[in-house]
Amino acid sequence: MEPEFVPALVMQTVLRDRRIVYAITDRNCTVLAVSDAGWSPHAHLTGGVGQNLVEVVPELVGSEATLADLLAGSLPRFQLPWVNREQPDGSLAYLTIILLPFHNKAGEITGLLLVLHDVTEMGTLERCITQQRNELRLLEEELRRQNAKLEAHNAELRRLDEMKSAFFSVAAHELRTPLAAIRGYLELLLDGEAGPLAGQQAEYLHIVDSSAQRLLHLSNQLLDSTRIETGRLDLVLQHTDLVELLHNVILELGPRFTAKAQRIVERAATGLPPCLCDVARAAQIMGNLLDNASKYSPPNSTITVTLRRADEDGFVQLAVQDEGIGIAADETADLFTPFYRAPGARQISASGVGLGLHIASSLVELHGGRLWFESVPGAGSTFYATFPIADPSSVV
Ligand code: ADP
Repeated sequence: MEPEFVPALVMQTVLRDRRIVYAITDRNCTVLAVSDAGWSPHAHLTGGVGQNLVEVVPELVGSEATLADLLAGSLPRFQLPWVNREQPDGSLAYLTIILLPFHNKAGEITGLLLVLHDVTEMGTLERCITQQRNELRLLEEELRRQNAKLEAHNAELRRLDEMKSAFFSVAAHELRTPLAAIRGYLELLLDGEAGPLAGQQAEYLHIVDSSAQRLLHLSNQLLDSTRIETGRLDLVLQHTDLVELLHNVILELGPRFTAKAQRIVERAATGLPPCLCDVARAAQIMGNLLDNASKYSPPNSTITVTLRRADEDGFVQLAVQDEGIGIAADETADLFTPFYRAPGARQISASGVGLGLHIASSLVELHGGRLWFESVPGAGSTFYATFPIADPSSVV
């Protein structure tokens, strides 16, 4: 290829690629030369050599004064961006029209150079972007409205939650005083302080007492759960011998195991260090796990309770293993949720409102430990709780 042809070919290729056509006119705006107009479906000239520029590009009708300014050299450039041109099929094409004075080698203006750029693809894209931007704006607006609604609902929920906590707290407090009085007088009656009890009176009074005890337990659970929710549950920490504490809790719950002829196996590793616990709360955690193990296990089953050093440093681990109904995999996530009771649990034990585990897990976490479980439905469960060692540095 002759080297002098190269720039011309390059220019042709670039113009074709960019979808640009051009026309050159004389000073009367009569077209002298045009590029190949066939390479753009939209940017084509509606006339050719020998015709007036305005006939070749109808969009310039009305711009005659501007053309004169360009020819006079008083205007260096004229551009009409995003000009719409309707196509035979009714669709819209977008053109950018540029007009420049055309100079000869001597620098004199000999006419005009018209550049017609087909920017339809860009225009369509731009239109899509604008449309999407508008849709996005509408969605943002909708999102803002929904957020405001959600915020209002949340505020209402918070208010109701606070009301519920306040109600639980007041109700539980108000229940405790008369219940304490009832239990006090029951004790007097059962001790024979008001005279000997005849017939089935003692038996009936024991039933009343155990019902009063259940009510007291429920009111205490409601109070604890409210305290946990409002962050007002404080621990009184002290060095605690968990082995001794566990033994006492088991003794206290003895009648419950006896009633179901359940066997308790107590295992404790030797030389366990004291833990830093709130004694009453640690006993409450143990009591809840043992009570559940008994409640959700059949008569004559065995409950194994183990205390040993936990796998994680600085903790002692309690494990309460039963041979009970177990926990289905789909109940796992809800087990520590307040008021949750598995359907199977409801059938096996009417007592309980589903607050015990929620409170126990919160108490364990307040101590810095963890509460979790493993279970095989139908075969039994093991609940684990860890308690922090009081002085981990002194333990080897
Ligand atoms: P409650 O015993 O008063 O229902 P908890 O909060 O102590 O409440 O326990 C919540 C639920 O967890 C129980 O209702 C029962 O479905 C399940 N659960 C707890 N412990 C056991 C266990 N040892 N075996 C089987 N299910 C258990």
